[in-house]
Amino acid sequence: MLNKTKRLLTSLLPVDPDRTGACNRCGACCKLPYPCPFLRFDDQGLSRCAVYAMRPPSCRKYPRVAAEQMTPQECGYSFATADARVTEAIGRDPLTDPL
Ligand code: SF4
Repeated sequence: MLNKTKRLLTSLLPVDPDRTGACNRCGACCKLPYPCPFLRFDDQGLSRCAVYAMRPPSCRKYPRVAAEQMTPQECGYSFATADARVTEAIGRDPLTDPL
């Protein structure tokens, strides 16, 4: 419940620009800490929100930052690490491909 309150309070802040990936509609975040009454599943088991167009910012932006990512196993979003950012910026991994 503390995490949900924190998400609510920080939901107006921007999404981390290092977030990558996409929602795979697993629905895991819609069960934090209990299943949302607007959570629905289609015939393939993919989640959908019954009030999607009006969903609150805390749902719209989940996971906003890595520290608020509570479903890393299921979620299609992830956050680049500092090492990954260096590798991307210089075009090689300095640990495995030194100059
Ligand atoms: S946990 Fe991630 S992938 Fe799953 S429904 Fe939520 S945002 Fe989408």
